[in-house]
Amino acid sequence: MAAKAGRPGEGLESRVEGFNERAREAVKDERLRSAVAVHSKNTIRNRNAALSALPDAPELRERAYRIKQETMANLDRHLERMASAVEKRGGKVFFANDGEEAVRYIGELARRRGAKIITKSKSMATEEIELNRRLQEEYPELGLEIVETDLGEWIAQLAGEAPSHIVAPILHMSRHRAAEVLSEEAGHPLPPNVEDLVSFARERLRQKFLSADIGITGANFGVAETGTVVTATNEGNEGLVASVPSVHVAVMGIEKVVPRLEDLAVFLRLLARSATGQKMTVYTDFVSGPKGEDEPDGPEEFHLVLLDNGRSSLLGGEFEEALYCIRCGACLNVCPVYRQTGGHAYGSTYSGPIGAVITPLLKGDEEAKDLPHASSLCGACWEACPVGIPLHELLLRLRRRQAETGISGRAQRLAFDAFEFGMRRPGLYGIGAKAARGVQGPLLRDGVARSLPGPLKGWAESREIPHLAEKSFRELWREGGI
Ligand code: SF4
Repeated sequence: MAAKAGRPGEGLESRVEGFNERAREAVKDERLRSAVAVHSKNTIRNRNAALSALPDAPELRERAYRIKQETMANLDRHLERMASAVEKRGGKVFFANDGEEAVRYIGELARRRGAKIITKSKSMATEEIELNRRLQEEYPELGLEIVETDLGEWIAQLAGEAPSHIVAPILHMSRHRAAEVLSEEAGHPLPPNVEDLVSFARERLRQKFLSADIGITGANFGVAETGTVVTATNEGNEGLVASVPSVHVAVMGIEKVVPRLEDLAVFLRLLARSATGQKMTVYTDFVSGPKGEDEPDGPEEFHLVLLDNGRSSLLGGEFEEALYCIRCGACLNVCPVYRQTGGHAYGSTYSGPIGAVITPLLKGDEEAKDLPHASSLCGACWEACPVGIPLHELLLRLRRRQAETGISGRAQRLAFDAFEFGMRRPGLYGIGAKAARGVQGPLLRDGVARSLPGPLKGWAESREIPHLAEKSFRELWREGGI
């Protein structure tokens, strides 16, 4: 069976708008919220244990941040070095300015090679550019069958759904639903137990691995000094995708480059611990080009597609730190918003706090205007981030940018203007505060207001607003009570 061409609403263009509406629906889904809660609780526990067993975890985090900072300052130099190392080993390198160029490069390669079946291993960059759908839509004459081979990604693909978590793509799906999806693929009912489902998937995917013409992988890191593409997985599918077909294409965001192998060691120690609480992922694959003349295994051709797609516009600016992300998913697991809504509400390849930062940066403020507000700014994401990205500050900067460019809603701007007007005039502020104290009575229950009228309604729905004191600080001060 051919893989489905697209996923409902797949792609940043069509789904990013409307976070608030999707989030409202998601919070009503008890099953989803409980699945996310269980996943988050387990992962956070494992992560904390794994990191506390690492005596130098804070220093590593600091080092990771510094390496990223230095890498971004000289990104062009590191990318050139990486490209020439890959070419020296017989690989081909293509710099893709955007998704369109990347799709065209891979589509033309598929045409040249007469490819029919493409196997893929999990890759956020290819999700970001909607590679599967676009290859099939833009090259219909090739009749490409594109198969995701990470188990969760494959089930999501068969179900016509998008992944909902950076690390756990079908976190949103119950075991019964997964069994339903695989039963449809099998053509007969499969029991909803993990062993049976995995063994069916293994048997079915093995045929795809063996018959694939091209294998497409992502890249967790690219090492400039050696030209090595590094991927970390738990299922081993990446190794088969990269080595069995005669052509291997690695699609790597340009920010994934690290200068030296010793830098890679820092990130590998942090990545699995932060993502799943493992010391290391089960498989860490290093690919440095096509197979050599004396090597029996490996692809005849190796292509590295270095994807920009808006990343370079962040270099040297106030949002550069968004490029330091190593896609571990730790910020999602601790985020109070993600934990209530799951990943689909974000409508973007990247969900959770990093998604709320990166999506407006890559797609524009207008389209993703709700996302910087999908945060309580509690800072838990920053604490969890193994690279120390100050996500809450980036979200605040995005909100400020929205206000400056007039993208924030008119009502919000008027409210803040009115607030500023009042704050600058102590007399007026005093009158307003007195009036608010006078009318708060009917809104209070057990000393807190659980609902507020008018435009403040939505804001108060998720908060308990403490009652205003009988007398203000200034009144008490004047009366000598302080
Ligand atoms: S922002 Fe930090 S915590 Fe979130 S996915 Fe990226 S590296 Fe992990």
